[in-house]
Amino acid sequence: MPAEAAATAKNVIILVGDGMGASHTTLARWYKGGPLALDEMVSGAVRTYSAESLITDSAPAATAFATGYKSNDKFIGIAAASVTVPGAASLNAGDQYRPLATVLEGAKLLGKATGLVATSNLQHATPAAFSSHWHSRSNYEEIGKQQVYEQIDVAFGGGKKYLLPKEQGGTRKDGLNLLDELKNMGYTIVSNTQELLQTKASKVWGLFADDAMAYDFDRDPAKEPSLAQMTRKAIEILSQDPDGFFLFVEGSEIDWASHANDPVGVISETLAFDAAVKEALDFAKKDGQTLVVAFTDHGNGGMSIGNKASDNTYSKLSFEQVIEPLRKARLTGQGVEARLNADRSNIVEVMARYYGISDLTEEEIAAIRQAKPGSLNYVIGPMISKRAYIGWTTNGHTGEDVFLYSYGPGKLTGTVENAEIARKVAAAMGLDLTWLNKELFIPVRQAFKDAAITWDNSNPNLPKVIIERGGKRAELPVGTNLMRINGQKHYLPGVIVYSEPKGVTYVPRAATELLN
Ligand SMILES: [Zn+2]
Repeated sequence: MPAEAAATAKNVIILVGDGMGASHTTLARWYKGGPLALDEMVSGAVRTYSAESLITDSAPAATAFATGYKSNDKFIGIAAASVTVPGAASLNAGDQYRPLATVLEGAKLLGKATGLVATSNLQHATPAAFSSHWHSRSNYEEIGKQQVYEQIDVAFGGGKKYLLPKEQGGTRKDGLNLLDELKNMGYTIVSNTQELLQTKASKVWGLFADDAMAYDFDRDPAKEPSLAQMTRKAIEILSQDPDGFFLFVEGSEIDWASHANDPVGVISETLAFDAAVKEALDFAKKDGQTLVVAFTDHGNGGMSIGNKASDNTYSKLSFEQVIEPLRKARLTGQGVEARLNADRSNIVEVMARYYGISDLTEEEIAAIRQAKPGSLNYVIGPMISKRAYIGWTTNGHTGEDVFLYSYGPGKLTGTVENAEIARKVAAAMGLDLTWLNKELFIPVRQAFKDAAITWDNSNPNLPKVIIERGGKRAELPVGTNLMRINGQKHYLPGVIVYSEPKGVTYVPRAATELLN
């Protein structure tokens, strides 16, 4: 049975501001000069640790809140192999490395429309953990393939090149053109803001950048929609489904600006994320049947309002001393880099005009001149931080508890584990995750006990499982939801997942019935 109890929410929207700690929202609010949409939704706290570290990376964090199980570093929708942190639920030995069903996949089985929105490439860890299963977050080829065959109704973000073969300007070594495959499956593909806003289609992939989309402050609004525009459009499309919908939205790059210690990027991305939260919240208020849950997966940078230079002056530090240097910047550190000319002869002018720093020292100019391409934000972020008394302790993630924000039927409150979020969201939809795992991931030898099972590696880029029984021959291409029986194509309700460390392929239970 899909349900343990009756559903409380028809629709669910989860929004994650990646790497968005408490100082991030505080600073963004001061900069904005008014409340954030998030503010009225504060409902508790989230413990973010993974199965093996007090400081999680995005992949195990997202696996936890997408599937209900804390996991290991790099794992995307895959069960932990090692659980060492006290208090993290241990798994049965046989479950190590097995794929774990996600709340998005569950929503789909309940007949709901599903959507995925991110500003990173869609194959990046957090959106990936809702929509694919692999033990390494960097395998964009496999993750991208699975996401296409998950048949998500709406997917908006970056990452076009990971869906195209090398010969067509992409990165895929398996030769697949997944954009063509999406079109074959009836999807409309949009690639700029106008196309997004105008489409009336119900199944849409929007790919607005080859890789990640731009930071919001640096964005060309004609080419790339904002996170709020993508969220609004996703809700507009998905809410047509009479069975309801599940939507996941990520403000992906708050995290990246934090790694770089660039407070301007943090503000740009936190405000863009908050505007997307407002879209979700406004819809939920009108609709009355929508649960909205927002949070971050982890802290990042140890950003603080106040630094060592304010040790003795913090209680006299004015609003202007902190906020004015930041308000003078018009672009993020990354956006500033794009304005520097090739020989970097315009540093002084560009830094004054776009980053608001007109008192660069000789040492700072030299550091900017020497900055490696693609890393200028790591060099100038600390420069503006110093001028605004913003402190940082690390270029990595941090392990503190974070805010939980929630609104609507089934609202989450109190201090929760990140993994509990998936279980509570599933319960709100009337979805039993234990049932779901049995429905979507059965080891192939268990699913077809009396059949001849072989592995067709004749094309190593497109391995297939071959099942032969009673005169029927089924082909199951791994990483897709396709099942060809005596040449006839069927779509399964979930993807076929090969767990490489385990050497086991998993298929949805429906595959067994199709062969009968
Ligand atoms: Zn993250």
